[in-house]
Amino acid sequence: MVQVMPISLFLMILMSLACGIEVTESANPSGLTPTETVFACGGVLLALTLLIHSLGVIAKSSVTQNRMSVEDAGVLLARRLEKCHWLAVGMVVLCLEGLGLASVLVSPPWIANSLAMKSLALLFPGMSLFLFSVLTNEKFSIAGERKRVSRTGILRLVLPKLSFISAISILPIVLLLGLIDVVQMIPIEPTYRSAATALIVILFIVSALPWLVSQSIGHSTLSGKKKKWIDELTKRAGLGNTPVKIWRTNHRNMNAMAIGFISPFRTLFLSDQLVAELPSKQLAMVLLHEASHLKRQHLPIRLLCTIPIWVTAAAFSPWLEQHQGIASLTTVMCIVLTLIVLRWVAHQTEYDADAEACRLAVRISRELDGVPQTLSESSRELSRALLKVSQQRSIARKSTWMHPSVLTRIQNMRSHPHPEAQERGLVAEAATRMQAELTSAAC
Ligand SMILES: [Zn+2]
Repeated sequence: MVQVMPISLFLMILMSLACGIEVTESANPSGLTPTETVFACGGVLLALTLLIHSLGVIAKSSVTQNRMSVEDAGVLLARRLEKCHWLAVGMVVLCLEGLGLASVLVSPPWIANSLAMKSLALLFPGMSLFLFSVLTNEKFSIAGERKRVSRTGILRLVLPKLSFISAISILPIVLLLGLIDVVQMIPIEPTYRSAATALIVILFIVSALPWLVSQSIGHSTLSGKKKKWIDELTKRAGLGNTPVKIWRTNHRNMNAMAIGFISPFRTLFLSDQLVAELPSKQLAMVLLHEASHLKRQHLPIRLLCTIPIWVTAAAFSPWLEQHQGIASLTTVMCIVLTLIVLRWVAHQTEYDADAEACRLAVRISRELDGVPQTLSESSRELSRALLKVSQQRSIARKSTWMHPSVLTRIQNMRSHPHPEAQERGLVAEAATRMQAELTSAAC
């Protein structure tokens, strides 16, 4: 529903790993000794850590001194931390590539000979900064919501979020590369080894990765009438036996997400606050939006669309190896192109999921209660749900790399050609109302 992995984190991972592609233990491009590199990079990373900590302290003091409400200070802190993430991406690349930290980190043979250990070492600086930033942000929002909460209480509430971020970022990469390390050790023909590696990558992405992410989310199962209704809705949406689970957020988050590619390795998560507070028609639209992502294979499409860029770059790699400067430039260009293509495809798939959810709702409403019955009603209810879901965090209404803004999605539903002529007018009217509501809420 709303973005789970920020693009700055995605870029941090990509850039950190890219910095280690060509690195060998003997090549430090900066000309610094390993000790000088460690001290210089330690200073840069410590300065960033202090900056993040200071932002948390400033936000806290602006609330305690009654200069700002908790909500406003929280929004401001989130914006400042997001800017810090981008700064951190630049600084981490400077340390790894410019100051030669990558070559120092991978210099011990037990790291240099293992892809998993190499990735862990390269991800360590960036991920530490990112997780510290998440900790700062979460600590502030928890302290704002609950006046009396101990340090251990805060840590208990923050840990699920930290483990979730690790489970969708570091853990899959390290585990997959660990499996590839094991395959590399098996004494077989290089062709068989390549085939086994490809098979392991595919199996891991399809089965182990969704399981890993699902397990990292604190969840419970549905019960009672609501479970029956949601199961029925999921079945009629064509998702077969895809389980729907309650994502436990201590009623702090309205969100939904679909994890996995194919049944039975996929799960649909609806947050506790979403299920408790959204009226049934809006909840149905949120669920159908996520079901549409799964049905129309949006996740594999997003992944596959970036492959041609890297395959083209790999085809030129023998030539690029002889031109070191161009090779680095090509890596940067591939990353930029990946981000641009990913953004365009992600936004298009969001519009497609909205439109498909509306079509599904009309069809399912003939057989199930509590589902919008017409295209105008379904787009209106989905618009309302989008506004409500993003109400807690105004930042969530803005366009991100993987999601169009709430306003653009509402406008897109408004311009979407519906078969019923008179419905078009109703949808336009509903979307205009939503737009006015959104604009006044943003002011
Ligand atoms: Zn979506």
